[in-house]
Amino acid sequence: MDQKVEFNPIKKLLTREELDAYDPESESWQKQFTRRYSHHSELMGVLNNVEDVDNTVYKKFAVAITPYMAKLMDKDDPNCPIRLQYMPSHHEQTVPGFATSLDQLGEEGDTIPGTSVVHRYPRRVLFLVSNTCATLCRFCTRKRMVSQPDGSVAKDEIEASIDYIASNPEIEDVLLSGGDPLTFTDERLDYILGEIRRRAPHVRFLRMGSRMVVQLPTRVTPELCAVLEKHRVQMINIHIGHPKEITPLLRQRVKMIQKAGIMMGLQTVCLKGVNDDVMVMRDLFMQTIEMGVRPYYVYSTDMVEGAAHFIVPHHRMIELYEGLRGWISGPAVPTFVVDGLGGLGKLPIIPTYVREEELPDGSGTTVKCRNYKGMTIDMPGLGHNFSLPTRSN
Ligand SMILES: *Cc1c(COP(=O)(O)O)cnc(C)c1O
Ligand code: SF4
Repeated sequence: MDQKVEFNPIKKLLTREELDAYDPESESWQKQFTRRYSHHSELMGVLNNVEDVDNTVYKKFAVAITPYMAKLMDKDDPNCPIRLQYMPSHHEQTVPGFATSLDQLGEEGDTIPGTSVVHRYPRRVLFLVSNTCATLCRFCTRKRMVSQPDGSVAKDEIEASIDYIASNPEIEDVLLSGGDPLTFTDERLDYILGEIRRRAPHVRFLRMGSRMVVQLPTRVTPELCAVLEKHRVQMINIHIGHPKEITPLLRQRVKMIQKAGIMMGLQTVCLKGVNDDVMVMRDLFMQTIEMGVRPYYVYSTDMVEGAAHFIVPHHRMIELYEGLRGWISGPAVPTFVVDGLGGLGKLPIIPTYVREEELPDGSGTTVKCRNYKGMTIDMPGLGHNFSLPTRSN
């Protein structure tokens, strides 16, 4: 308790007893936002077996955990899949030869100067509007800006970004991300979305990525949904790492967004110890598709500093995919991707089920097929140099 005062002289943090009795719907999301735990010592006594990490961890990446998220954590088990995603660990030390940059995806290089727009792919842009999130993930790919004191997105950067989108008619898809765009007030979102719609009528698809829907579901209010609907936001991708994060409150707020006519997708980062398990993934994707949220991407953990212990090797990613395709509903199977180092972009990880092979006699090719259960068959009719038999009459 004393340490709480030491690190947070102003905010009132919840004790274990208060957290047990806590109803996240009893206070505004803004109030809850100010009551986030921001140091591991603040969680000692709230959770058991909290690792006493070195303060150098905080120099690289801050800690922030909403009371709602803390309540979902297992009180005793440090390997709880939610704790692993958000609690700092000694594993976050720099691993030589692993990642030396906070911008391993080379996003800075594709950022339009003076803006926070990453224009990497044809016809679509990533617009980094916010530099913070409700709860900070230890494996965050944007550590270079999220929660960093010098990583803020300035107001004039936002204006310059809107100018860029407005003056480039080839941009037909804008993805608002960050950080989390929903950390903004409804008024600010109303302004940004409104300006994009008003000044860039060439934008056909306006979408958002947000983990706040999951980390602080009460952020989703009828007022927010009215803003999203007014500006025709067509898709929101939420980020869930483990089925434990799916609660009745989340389901209720997802439904609220869907009622505003917004398509919803799911993205997940494949994390060692959290979800690198076929059964966990099947459960997660079936639960989300049940909610009408379409699993979209599973990302390989990015090689960002402090995330080496989360890496799931490539061969294992392939096995996980193979444990989904054919085994659960097709629409529940997401695309697995790895974001290539230095700005190569997203690369799909696709196991080979169908492959063309030379025939031993050199007369052409056959197509070798393998199904989800491992049964194989040849389809020479799909190869080249295959010729139909000549008609006899
Ligand atoms: C992921 C990403 C997008 C969007 O990619 P989609 O495959 O269209 O969802 C756009 N720009 C950047 C820089 C990205 O990383
Ligand atoms: S929600 Fe996304 S941007 Fe925010 S801390 Fe987590 S990984 Fe980073």
